[in-house]
Amino acid sequence: MKFNANYQKLKESYLFSDIAHRVNAYTAAHPDQKVLRMGIGDVTLPLAPAVIAAMEKAVAEMGKKETFRGYGPEQGYDFLREAIRADYAARGISLAADEIFISDGAKSDVGNILDLFDADNTVLVPDPVYPVYVDTNVMAGRRILFADATRANGFLPMPDPKTEADIIYICSPNNPTGAAYSVEQLQAWVDYANARGAVILYDAAYERFVAGEGLARSIFETKGAEDCAIEFCSLSKTAGFTGTRCGYTVVPHALVRGGVHCNKLWLRRQTTKFNGVSYIVQRGAEAVFTEEGKKQIEANLAVYRRNARRLSSCLDELGIFYTGGKNSPYLWLECPGFTDSWKFFDYLLEEANVVGTPGSGFGKNGEGFFRLTAFASEEATEEAAERIRRLLRR
Ligand code: PLP
Repeated sequence: MKFNANYQKLKESYLFSDIAHRVNAYTAAHPDQKVLRMGIGDVTLPLAPAVIAAMEKAVAEMGKKETFRGYGPEQGYDFLREAIRADYAARGISLAADEIFISDGAKSDVGNILDLFDADNTVLVPDPVYPVYVDTNVMAGRRILFADATRANGFLPMPDPKTEADIIYICSPNNPTGAAYSVEQLQAWVDYANARGAVILYDAAYERFVAGEGLARSIFETKGAEDCAIEFCSLSKTAGFTGTRCGYTVVPHALVRGGVHCNKLWLRRQTTKFNGVSYIVQRGAEAVFTEEGKKQIEANLAVYRRNARRLSSCLDELGIFYTGGKNSPYLWLECPGFTDSWKFFDYLLEEANVVGTPGSGFGKNGEGFFRLTAFASEEATEEAAERIRRLLRR
């Protein structure tokens, strides 16, 4: 018996445990200080009433013989796939319902999709990056190249025709940098992928934060994306489903490589290894796409957007370089006066009692940068912005 030796190659991630350790040590030594946590990547507002009502109704159905449901379709109930199809159609993107697969969230699908690809593929991952892309490929033993995201390219790397990548990760709006690609920029990636016969794995977990003119919410806003791209969406950050769990993945029928039909392969994978998302959760997810649900979700998103604006105006006033904040719940700033993200973390914690996330935890290009998030309460965000203003104005 041999375990997968690739797991030995995974780097331990101490990022969030190190943060917790430093914050706990500080609060233990200064129990009277109010520490504001602006590094959280989880939502804080509750589920929309329309979602709760739909789930309550579904619970009642499950308790009656006539309406009880057992196993559902592995790829999701038609009512939810249809609601998502209509949501894309309203944005001018035409999909077939069976190109949409319901899942328990984007993280699972982003990892599980790799079952479809041979270990002998080269993967291109942006740096800095959501760590799941790297770790899931290390587990499979794939060769990983990095696309440098830096201040010089606004943290939006563009394809280099000399890079020989087979599987390309794009996350927009990005975690951690908050940077969002325009449709035109994504078109260059799609053209590159199609020219190479590569596949793009497009993580759109934060798509609903996109508001800017010309920016993409979906990779399917570009020409030819259906021939090369898989899109991962999540209700986690957009509708508060982080603890409820529901997402969806679009695998177009047109995506064929080496004569292999990717949609069929993913259907085979899901029907073999996955038994679907609970009926109750899918009914809740369906409510997200109703007029009432959309309105209620928008009200929550408006709070996070206001928070992002509070933080970005503070950085604007201070003249600090940052990306994100406008089309994303994340703000990615250059640590003012510090080249070491952890030193800036300690400075902000000790002098302003504000906690963020050191950029170096997301990749080598994150060194010297720092992530703040818009998910805390409005009051905490307002106060944090004020404290940062006071501290860094000096
Ligand atoms: N993709 C990105 C870029 C994320 O930042 C996250 C969560 O933080 C996820 C995916 C995970 O989403 P889900 O909760 O749907 O699994």
